[in-house]
Amino acid sequence: MVVLGGGVVGVASAWFLARRGCRVTLIERHEGAGLETSFANGGLVTPSMSDPWASPEIPRLILKWIGREDAPFLVRIRALPGLLPWGLKFLRECNHESWHRNTRIILRLSTYSHECLRELVRETGVDYESNPFGTLHLFRDSLSMEKTSRTAEMLEELGVRSQTLDPAGCTVLEPALRAQIDRIAGGIHYPDDEGGDAHLFSQRLAEICASNGVELRYGETVERIETEGGKFSAVRTGAGRVEADACVVALGGESPRHVGPLGIRLPIYPVKGYSLTFPVGGWNDAPVVPFADDGHKAGIVRIGDRIRVAGTAEFAGRDRTLSPKRIANLRNFFLSLFPDYPDRSAGDAWTGLRPMTPDGIPYLGPTPVEGLFLNTGHGHLGWTMACGSASIVAALVCGRDAGIDLTGMTLEGR
Ligand SMILES: Cc1cc2nc3c(=O)[nH]c(=O)nc-3n(C[C@H](O)[C@H](O)[C@H](O)COP(=O)(O)OP(=O)(O)OC[C@H]3O[C@@H](n4cnc5c(N)ncnc54)[C@H](O)[C@@H]3O)c2cc1C
Repeated sequence: MVVLGGGVVGVASAWFLARRGCRVTLIERHEGAGLETSFANGGLVTPSMSDPWASPEIPRLILKWIGREDAPFLVRIRALPGLLPWGLKFLRECNHESWHRNTRIILRLSTYSHECLRELVRETGVDYESNPFGTLHLFRDSLSMEKTSRTAEMLEELGVRSQTLDPAGCTVLEPALRAQIDRIAGGIHYPDDEGGDAHLFSQRLAEICASNGVELRYGETVERIETEGGKFSAVRTGAGRVEADACVVALGGESPRHVGPLGIRLPIYPVKGYSLTFPVGGWNDAPVVPFADDGHKAGIVRIGDRIRVAGTAEFAGRDRTLSPKRIANLRNFFLSLFPDYPDRSAGDAWTGLRPMTPDGIPYLGPTPVEGLFLNTGHGHLGWTMACGSASIVAALVCGRDAGIDLTGMTLEGR
């Protein structure tokens, strides 16, 4: 088997295939695993965020925010022509019925995935600086809290535990919020979420894969997927030709350009996001509980002795420029909650492109090309959904039952 892409999804795919006894080769263009979108993402493993971005209210908000540098969702005018086909599909998902359906599908995959991650950790002992304190969704006003409470109720009915907290309750859970008690309307705590470093996970799991016989071909770029008589036959790379009996495409945002020539059209748009990573250093009152702010589309998570602040969405094509204004927004978001942080100019800035599908659901499993499988399009939840997606795809590659209802997750009917 050959796995294309060494992000969190590709490495997890290699692991689950190897565990099923397959001989696996993983091809990654960088000199290591998890160096692209999986590098400095938000670090949250959050089934509680299974509601997709395509929601009934989002078109109005995007229009309201157009051109605003401080907007959680920013559409760059110059990106509009390239965004159009994907954008129309996205808009078609922005209704109550699709939102409910997509939330249920993403939640099914996310919760299954979290179980797979826990199982993998029990088996391998992989250490990714896990933060086990759930996620606290914080609200600055009661209206947004009330709206999100409805989502929390729906998730609760589907088995996601949560606890609604008043401002005092938030500070009991996370004393670092004490100074902000008058500026928050309350929070919803999801105790079963976790946080952790997706890059460390990818890197260390890749090492574990290698010691279990997986061949890691780093620094090798996939040029073309080759077929013969409608079947997958080989992968052409910068270093030669790699033959295999099956291939898993886990190239994140680059997947469409490699399967497109085979007639497989994947609507995946690279949605830019940013992160800032601060050292905890001597900050004694640093928070421990991970936070999410649905309004800002941003999160704050303690990962070992670092604090990662990440989020915001920018539709700007493949442009990876670090916008100083967007970075300043993230910094202000962090410092407005934690004005005591000692070094206001610290923080390593990073940007990544989320491989986003219009409905927020990845593409998993077989394609019309025999032997060619997809594991791609994980959007804003790729760390959350990686292990479950990999376990599913490994089962399908080996001709086994995935053990979970796959409705809505495969190419069929989408
Ligand atoms: C700001 C930000 C915050 C986020 N926060 C979270 C979060 O808190 N929780 C969460 O669950 N998700 C989060 N995400 C989403 C998550 O990071 C992605 O969904 C996930 O990293 C996608 O993983 P991947 O393996 O599919 O893609 P990638 O990590 O991009 O991996 C694809 C790999 O394919 C390789 N590749 C591409 N083309 C070629 C080629 N031609 N030849 C060889 N190799 C190639 C790339 O180098 C790359 O390593 C966030 C994303 C961003 C940008």
